[in-house]
Amino acid sequence: MATYLPIITLAKTAIKVSSAPTGRLSDILGHHQTIRNGDGSMAIVLLPEEVVARIAAGEAVERPASVVKELIENSIDAGATAIHADIIAAGRRLIRISDNGSGIPADEIKLAFRRHATSKLRAAQDLQALSTLGFRGEALASIAAVSQSTIITRHRGEDMGVSLKLNGGAVQHHKALCAPAGTVITIENLFFNTPARLKFLKSDATEKRHIQRVVSRYAMAYPKVSFALKQDGREQFRSSGRGELADVAAKVFGLKHFKRMLEVSSEETPRRAYPKISVFGYTSQPSLHRNDRSRIILFINGRAVQDNSLSHAIAQAYEGLLKSGSYPLTVLLITMPSDYVDVNVHPTKAEVRFRDANQVFAAVQRAVRRSLLDNGGNPHTDEWPSPGPAAHYRNDPRPLPAYRPFAADDLYDDADLDYIPETAGAPTRPRTLPLLRVVGQIGAAYIAAEGPAGLYLVDQNAAHERVLHDQILADVQNETLPTISPLDSPTLALSPADTALLTEMGADLAQLGFEIEVFGPNAFVFRTMPKCLASRPLAEAFPQMLARLRQSQRKPGDVITALAWAAAVRSGQVLETEEMQSIIRQLERCPSPYQ
Ligand code: ADP
Ligand code: MG
Repeated sequence: MATYLPIITLAKTAIKVSSAPTGRLSDILGHHQTIRNGDGSMAIVLLPEEVVARIAAGEAVERPASVVKELIENSIDAGATAIHADIIAAGRRLIRISDNGSGIPADEIKLAFRRHATSKLRAAQDLQALSTLGFRGEALASIAAVSQSTIITRHRGEDMGVSLKLNGGAVQHHKALCAPAGTVITIENLFFNTPARLKFLKSDATEKRHIQRVVSRYAMAYPKVSFALKQDGREQFRSSGRGELADVAAKVFGLKHFKRMLEVSSEETPRRAYPKISVFGYTSQPSLHRNDRSRIILFINGRAVQDNSLSHAIAQAYEGLLKSGSYPLTVLLITMPSDYVDVNVHPTKAEVRFRDANQVFAAVQRAVRRSLLDNGGNPHTDEWPSPGPAAHYRNDPRPLPAYRPFAADDLYDDADLDYIPETAGAPTRPRTLPLLRVVGQIGAAYIAAEGPAGLYLVDQNAAHERVLHDQILADVQNETLPTISPLDSPTLALSPADTALLTEMGADLAQLGFEIEVFGPNAFVFRTMPKCLASRPLAEAFPQMLARLRQSQRKPGDVITALAWAAAVRSGQVLETEEMQSIIRQLERCPSPYQ
């Protein structure tokens, strides 16, 4: 099959059509548009205005949710404090956005639908410091070009409103009428004249979910604006407009999940050549995570952005707390001077460029990390001592926000959230040490870990022994100590003294799961032994265990102490990061980690 170049050259203009679903111009224009010279070659023509509009519409208007996004952005730019979205048939039939914003002056209404007509930008240098979401002056023209649209608007300063009806961008009616201040824009039969685009829409369920995502995200970015979303007559989402991100995030993530999220709040004071970057929002405790980044929701200066490096920076803040491939649930409102970020990178304005990306990443990562460390910081309390928003809710005298299960659960359904224990098999005791992040190993003897108060140096042998001791003790008490029966049943020759001790302590050893048979004079075969001992060479570990036992007073618990000591990683043993993390995670929950 012939591939078509994604760029067509017009007389003076080049228009990129790369975002056409197939990249094929004919799919956008329909097949009747091909213009040929007498010899059959393509003639170069200047495309009529409405064709250009339809091509350009493909860039910003990809699916019903993109229409919702553009119209909501316009409402926000118009200073609206209430924005309602009514959707029918996943936006294929109808999208209606109503706002109580400034409205459009009657004599400017037609202009608003012209390409590159905007009230938000006057000169090229305005692009360097945008304070509005829109600036390209394209959305209305693009949307109108591929739908049947009606706008009713009254500007705050005018007595009469105006209505304008367009079909595929062509004006049909234009009349004055009485209307409340603000704007109601109705988009019907989206993509009716671009069948290819229609064909590439996903299922209704998917398109509805995209719409819901757009509305709920803007509701989080603008907690002072009250949003409502109705799909097919059913209210799916509503935010109060009371101004608290927590209220909105609790609805979007679901109260159950939100209670397991921690507040992030940081304002970095500007240093020389560095701007002020403030980060505010919520991020999940490490035990709540997903296997993709879709719940890392980021806004830069009120603009929803998709930035993989930024979400990567956030995931990195969880290093040592989340296994790789797991991502937190996060919503962050990041603000910085508007001239520090370039939003004019992509037609959908979902990508941004920073003047110094590393600085932004570092600021965001520090903010998240600090929240994780601060909230894991108190010994002898519950798992997460200051459960951010949840606590905020408990102490808050205001009633809980009206909470519709549909809004949260349909969007962020429980089934796709996975919970795994922090370390498989780790005891689920409350934390007694602050949350520590493993930094590395020093001299093959110490684990260096970072905590809220600074760096901790943990003696790996002592720490592991501590951890194992508690675990073995608990397992023995519950009769759940794991054992293994190696296929090759190792044999060991012991000194006469060790042989005597082994005979003496036989019953205690059996209690730990040792099944040892006599194999010859001073030689023994190990049929079964505690699993924890198997990570070390038996010929080393078992005599060490007996040696430790010999020094003890042979009280009942001494055999456990000896086993823990013998099974623990040795000083001088090089550890994998995961092994260190596992030891630290378990140590954090030991009743007396400092021993
Ligand atoms: P942009 O938002 O990039 O300026 P649009 O095509 O989205 O371009 O909108 C064109 C112009 O129409 C805006 O600059 C604004 O003046 C006006 N406008 C659009 N929607 C609204 C609205 N809901 N309320 C008030 N003015 C609006
Ligand atoms: Mg706009």
